[in-house]
Amino acid sequence: MKGLIFGPPGAGKGTQGLLLEERLHIPVISTGQIFRDAISSGSSEALQLKEIIASGQLVPDEVVINIAIDRISQSDCKSGFILDGFPRTIQQAKVASESGVRFDFILELVLDSDEIVRRISGRRFHPASGRTYHISDRPPKNPGLDDLTHEPLICRDDDSMDSVLKRIKIYEDITKPILDFYTSQKNDFTLEHIKVGGLGGVDAVHASILEKMRQCQIIS
Ligand code: ADP
Ligand code: ADP
Repeated sequence: MKGLIFGPPGAGKGTQGLLLEERLHIPVISTGQIFRDAISSGSSEALQLKEIIASGQLVPDEVVINIAIDRISQSDCKSGFILDGFPRTIQQAKVASESGVRFDFILELVLDSDEIVRRISGRRFHPASGRTYHISDRPPKNPGLDDLTHEPLICRDDDSMDSVLKRIKIYEDITKPILDFYTSQKNDFTLEHIKVGGLGGVDAVHASILEKMRQCQIIS
């Protein structure tokens, strides 16, 4: 099974992705997390991307495409994967398609800008695992600490207000048109477009996703 989680920053892609990974037993590949891991490991190529990412801009297509395609060629993706955050431009989608990347479903999470800003302002993050919390909606058991490792949580560099507003605009102008790109290819292969409102608690959104997946027989 191959899927794509799609939606604006802060819509809950990472949070729902981790739940789907557990439920479907296939890896969720987040290009954002790949970049964050590379930056924290101090790789010199990745450090050049640090400023681009912190300011809310997109990493150049040629860099992301190679990383994403290489990652999904690895053995743990043989029986499927869910991509979170790739493709994000038409060019990325075209090259992925030319390289044979096909999706069975696109899961689109929908959230309005006010709620995006509220969620991202309260986002706290555990860098090593990618686990995400929210200071009021999903607080950790101990303030400022990851529930499992008890390591400190951080605010992401790119979660400043300026960067968030830029990312919302990039999503609307550059990323969202990808949906039309995939819809136009729908006749060539089966692709379910599952659209789910991101409002409501994490468990409620997860339940809606599973319900819609059952309706279109992606899961039983
Ligand atoms: P968000 O939570 O805002 O959706 P991600 O974790 O998916 O963020 O990505 C964080 C940042 O990493 C993006 O704002 C962008 O700078 C970079 N990035 C991730 N994936 C891509 C991609 N496919 N193309 C270009 N840049 C990307
Ligand atoms: P994305 O990966 O799309 O950028 P995240 O999964 O990181 O989004 O979620 C953004 C913020 O919103 C995090 O602080 C997360 O804990 C919180 N969050 C995610 N889903 C929900 C939800 N259904 N209700 C309330 N807060 C949520």
